[in-house]
Amino acid sequence: MFNDGIADFWNGEVHWNASMAAYTTFKVGGPAEAIVFPRGRNELSLLIQGLRKINVPWHLLGRGSNVLVADQGVKGVVIVLGRDYGAIEVDHQYADGALVRVEAGCGLGRLVNWTARHGLSGLEFAVGIPGSVGGAIVMNAGAWQKEMKDVLALVTVMNGRGCCSVKKTEEMHFAYRTWGEKKGIIALEGYFRLQSDDPETIRGRCVHYQELRKERQPHMVASGGSFFKNPCKGKSAGQLIDEAGLKGVSVGAAMVSPVHANFIVNTGGATAGEIVLLMELVQAKVKEQSGVWLEPEVRMLGMECVMPSLRSLAVEE
Ligand SMILES: Cc1cc2nc3c(=O)[nH]c(=O)nc-3n(C[C@H](O)[C@H](O)[C@H](O)COP(=O)(O)OP(=O)(O)OC[C@H]3O[C@@H](n4cnc5c(N)ncnc54)[C@H](O)[C@@H]3O)c2cc1C
Repeated sequence: MFNDGIADFWNGEVHWNASMAAYTTFKVGGPAEAIVFPRGRNELSLLIQGLRKINVPWHLLGRGSNVLVADQGVKGVVIVLGRDYGAIEVDHQYADGALVRVEAGCGLGRLVNWTARHGLSGLEFAVGIPGSVGGAIVMNAGAWQKEMKDVLALVTVMNGRGCCSVKKTEEMHFAYRTWGEKKGIIALEGYFRLQSDDPETIRGRCVHYQELRKERQPHMVASGGSFFKNPCKGKSAGQLIDEAGLKGVSVGAAMVSPVHANFIVNTGGATAGEIVLLMELVQAKVKEQSGVWLEPEVRMLGMECVMPSLRSLAVEE
């Protein structure tokens, strides 16, 4: 353990040997050696510089709604950017809207509500996507043919040495479910360019999207959202899995949702191992049936030493 080493540069709260299940929407995962909660960019910068010095690996986490953590847990420090680093403010007012600065730990739902209340349109598509603003930027989260990059103007990032810079979205390499940055780069803040609109009209669009989500996706059950990326052409991952007859198929307590075939759900007490086995079963059956190899959208954490084959899967760019 690195208890003594970390005390030289970190005096905030540390959860030692804490279960990651409480920090992911899948509700699975073994312990992280340590979990910490920086409250701002200075604390975060000192932390990652210090960890670098004592050679301890770290992993960034938002709300854990797109990660699957190994049953064996995670080596090193899990850094959670949460509510303490979640300010929202108008950075610049325009005749037709505003540029809004949002810190990475802000909940995406809280941001959508805030924009509706302030009569600023553009993020309605994100209603119902769980997670933090940082996670949404990194995953380029999207729904209903819109994604984060469509409304993001600038992103403040921090590199592995704790230095910050501001990047224009158009100069970054956003693509389907990725922001295109290298592993180890942290999203600190997003600047969203939003348009003025009537708050009630914005709320109406949010309600509409929320209803569609309720109709089409499982709710009140633990999952990581869509498990696989949609192939770049042809049928969606959900259609391919459905056509392979896999809805309702289980490994232990992990099940392909009968509501939406691209959701693997934890019906209660599933292990990460069961979810991975089900993932592999789905990949093999879909490949056999349609010739398409489905790549996971869900990011794996702590899996590399357990299953070397997973190194190539869902690797963090
Ligand atoms: C029920 C359900 C529905 C969902 N629906 C959708 C949907 O419609 N569309 C969609 O796109 N996604 C959807 N998702 C997936 C997920 O909610 C999104 O990908 C979300 O944006 C992830 O945010 P997070 O804070 O939970 O990220 P996490 O799961 O905590 O992290 C995801 C990845 O981003 C990295 N990361 C997180 N924050 C940062 C940061 N600040 N800097 C650098 N790296 C970071 C992590 O290391 C990890 O690799 C859904 C998930 C669930 C459970």
